[in-house]
Amino acid sequence: MSRSATATIHLDALRGNLARVRALAGGAKVMAVVKADAYGHGLERCARALAGADAFGVASIADGLRLRAAGQRQRIVVLSGPDAASDLAEMRRLRLEAVIHHDSQLAMLEAERGGEPLKVWLNLDTGMHRLGFAPSRAREIHARLAALPAVDPAIVLMTHFAASDEFGNDLTARQTQAFAAATRDLPGERALANSAALLGWPAALGGAAGAGGSPAARYWVRAGGLLYGLSAVAGKTGADFGFAPAMTLTTRLVAINRIARGERIGYGATWVCPEDMDIGVAAIGYGDGYPRSARSGTPAGVGAAPATVVGRVSMDLLTLDLRRAPGARVGDVVTLWGLGLPVETIAAQAGTIAYELTCGVTRRVLFAEDGG
Ligand SMILES: *Cc1c(COP(=O)(O)O)cnc(C)c1O
Repeated sequence: MSRSATATIHLDALRGNLARVRALAGGAKVMAVVKADAYGHGLERCARALAGADAFGVASIADGLRLRAAGQRQRIVVLSGPDAASDLAEMRRLRLEAVIHHDSQLAMLEAERGGEPLKVWLNLDTGMHRLGFAPSRAREIHARLAALPAVDPAIVLMTHFAASDEFGNDLTARQTQAFAAATRDLPGERALANSAALLGWPAALGGAAGAGGSPAARYWVRAGGLLYGLSAVAGKTGADFGFAPAMTLTTRLVAINRIARGERIGYGATWVCPEDMDIGVAAIGYGDGYPRSARSGTPAGVGAAPATVVGRVSMDLLTLDLRRAPGARVGDVVTLWGLGLPVETIAAQAGTIAYELTCGVTRRVLFAEDGG
């Protein structure tokens, strides 16, 4: 049996979303974050569609290598920088830029005996407490980096927000202020905003209450989710902000069975048929990345009709209530998320975020492109 689970990547949506990010960024430069295989959409194809960005952001040197091998000549920033001294030579060879967030990395750079100037992004921890130097050390670290002949003097200053998706949480404003205070006298570009900050926190782009009141041209936005049409804001979809989904996940109905009232569906026999009804079986499951945690009642589409997942999602298959899809036939296309069915809705039903679902589509799913 060949499997029909297919993730169709909408290249026009990627391009349109980049244009919308640019419009919202008001002159700030745009880093297209393509880590985790472009949030599960496929690194090379997304980089092609997003080649108009000012830089790409990746999580590993290996991803930088893939982008170079695919012919990308764009700036590429490795968001967690080098792990070992040998990484520095590889980064120079591939013309990758390094986020420097830790003393261990600074020590590697200071131990070097020269080399091509490496472009670095100095990461300050203003409150997320994951990566970055304490803001009180910003001037010291900046001076040490600037003194190294093998570091490009145009150092970009960056920080990352912990809760910018919560528009009512003032942590983002406090992080922005801490960043501004720590970097006040330092030259160079600033990179604070992620997708959610682009939507909700203009100060992170040098806007109104700006970090130092600097012009937008000095700022970067590091956008991931929005480029794929994904919202990180609870209760909102990318479409609510004018972004289009970049992935539609589909499969086919492989069976329709008439099941009697009172019978139970699937593993654990968790869902009881309230009446005699048609149950559809779709060829997709958690082995494809459809979340097992999706509750009964999670929406899906059968052709143009609505349906809902009932019973437990299994590895290869899931079961659907077809009462609102009376014309359904074996072989019909089943839509799990994407165009017309926001992945954010599915994520909410599964107790996770849309990012995790698109990142979790597995290798056995066929990838297709449209809008080439
Ligand atoms: C992943 C990541 C981003 C992008 O975040 P989105 O919410 O997807 O826009 C930006 N900056 C850093 C450091 C990241 O790790």
